[in-house]
Amino acid sequence: MRVAVVKERLDGEKRVAATPETVKKLAGREIEVVVEAGAGFAAGFRDQAYKDAGATVAEDREQTLKGAHVILTVRGLAKDELEPVDKGALLVGLINPYQNGALVKAYADKGVLACAMEFVPRITRAQAMDVLSSQSNLAGYKAVLDATEHFPRAMPMMMTAAGTIAPAKVFVMGAGVAGLQAIATARRLGAVVSATDVRPAAKEQVESLGGKFVMVDSEETREAETAGGYAKEMSDDFKQKQAELVAETIKKQEIVITTALIPGKKAPTLINAEMVRSMKPGSVIVDLAVEQGGNCTLSKAGEVVLDDKSGVTIVGHTNVASRLPADASSLYAKNLLNFLDLLTAKGKDLEIDFEDDIVQGVLLTKDGGVVHPNLAKAA
Ligand code: NAD
Repeated sequence: MRVAVVKERLDGEKRVAATPETVKKLAGREIEVVVEAGAGFAAGFRDQAYKDAGATVAEDREQTLKGAHVILTVRGLAKDELEPVDKGALLVGLINPYQNGALVKAYADKGVLACAMEFVPRITRAQAMDVLSSQSNLAGYKAVLDATEHFPRAMPMMMTAAGTIAPAKVFVMGAGVAGLQAIATARRLGAVVSATDVRPAAKEQVESLGGKFVMVDSEETREAETAGGYAKEMSDDFKQKQAELVAETIKKQEIVITTALIPGKKAPTLINAEMVRSMKPGSVIVDLAVEQGGNCTLSKAGEVVLDDKSGVTIVGHTNVASRLPADASSLYAKNLLNFLDLLTAKGKDLEIDFEDDIVQGVLLTKDGGVVHPNLAKAA
């Protein structure tokens, strides 16, 4: 079997889908690995390290993709990059299928088996392949550091001869994987942390990290979690109550990290301009949901906005995990290696069990059609 590892083309994408460590594991199983020249450079992995691990380095994209049975990517391949890809090849990446319907159709037309890693089911057996968790965890950590960069105060309490500095007050909205890591990171830096979510199960997790949990008291939260562990979209009545709670809480906070997402939908709006303007000047909001439409109405994707009416900074970095490209690549590459273990039964050739629930969860296209149940209807 031949595995190709491409150099990412998307602006700002510094991650790579295989590291010398994962290449060594594949090469040790007599799998031929071809890495596009420079693929790992932005993440700190040189071509020579891939060669030392047993890969061949190809000078261009065409040579990399030609004859590949498996193509490992971070962000998939663009439509115009599919020409050298063989029919029946397996393409793995973060494909963002809900937003990229036309691209998924192009994969189907090309006859590739496209796998969207963001669709790995949140089940115990799939944890080692769970790219959303590995990347969100890093994003949650980095969000707190990004906040400190713009925050004009220190995070911990400091008692000095010149006086005492109070600890920073941090509020985390959405206590999933990213939110919980943001809470842990802010606590490690000495902040006083509170957090909210719509899923009552989050309370215990927030408290175990030393955070205070605040939540709308409503019957509706009992039904807020889907079987997959995700949040549902809430009713207008709930949204109104939540807005009141957020308005009351946020004016006492100095750093707010928002991470709230609903799969396949626009991110819920949790902070409006009036709420931002109730915060003290110098406060910072980091909107990790900015690529899905944002949790804060004033955030702008890819920008750091200083709201001149309030003096509050709103950080809207996109692709936050890629801001830690070495660790993000190492974890992502291991997720993909574990996924390949499933697809090859740890051998050297593909032996895909199309009945497997993880395979069914991620597989978008097969035999020239869109097969994923969440997309097939739309296609
Ligand atoms: P996510 O990125 O989809 O959303 C982030 C958080 O925002 C979630 O906790 C969600 O409940 C919350 N949220 C959504 N709407 C909100 C609103 N209006 N107000 C406040 N908060 C809101 O979530 P995630 O981090 O991917 O985690 C999703 C679930 O998957 C969680 O239950 C997590 O525990 C679970 N999980 C399970 C596994 C596993 O292998 N078993 C692995 C990772 C995550």
